[in-house]
Amino acid sequence: MKALEERIRQEGQILSDTVLKVDSFLNHQVDTALALEIGKEFARLFGSAPITKVLTIEASGIQFAMATAIALGVPFIYAKKKKAITLNEQVYFAEVHSFTRQETYQVSISQKYLDASDHVLIVDDFLATGAALVGLTDIVKEAGAELAGVGCVIEKSFQEGRGLLEQRGIAVRSLARIGSMAPGEVHFIEEAGA
Ligand code: 5GP
Repeated sequence: MKALEERIRQEGQILSDTVLKVDSFLNHQVDTALALEIGKEFARLFGSAPITKVLTIEASGIQFAMATAIALGVPFIYAKKKKAITLNEQVYFAEVHSFTRQETYQVSISQKYLDASDHVLIVDDFLATGAALVGLTDIVKEAGAELAGVGCVIEKSFQEGRGLLEQRGIAVRSLARIGSMAPGEVHFIEEAGA
């Protein structure tokens, strides 16, 4: 998605050769017009599947899951990172190791909102090691739901996430794929069929 690549070039801060900061428009302050365009693009890419729910993890996937869900006309669910005291029903959960925070946490989703009748599209802001998204795909499997695919706003293609998901036979589409980066420069690779 060219508009997204442009913003990354203009505003992205490359903190190291593995960490990209996009706080000014994507995951702290959010450019809502861009988020809505991102949602439309995911809906276009995956819209031929009979999706019933969009799934993400709090917090920084929420705006893109919501934009995608609006474009598809379905609800979205965000997995919670801390078990809320109000979440006293049966839950699905998965363990996730965070690349940016260097810690392991559990994500959970109420079993009320996901079951074997669902066709799920997973959406997230970044695909890096893939740990967060593999955790979500495990939950979809446990629920017996159908997984239509995984949509990522930014993929760091030099990390192992895409490979891990593709090994599981999952369709991955990313709107900006970074082949390599270093302070002051970022190289994108084309998504096949984009
Ligand atoms: P994973 O390693 O599981 O693919 O990434 C999990 C989460 O870490 C992503 O959803 C994203 O929120 C965060 N993350 C991973 N790499 C980066 C990065 O380079 N920059 C930012 N801002 N977040 C990242």
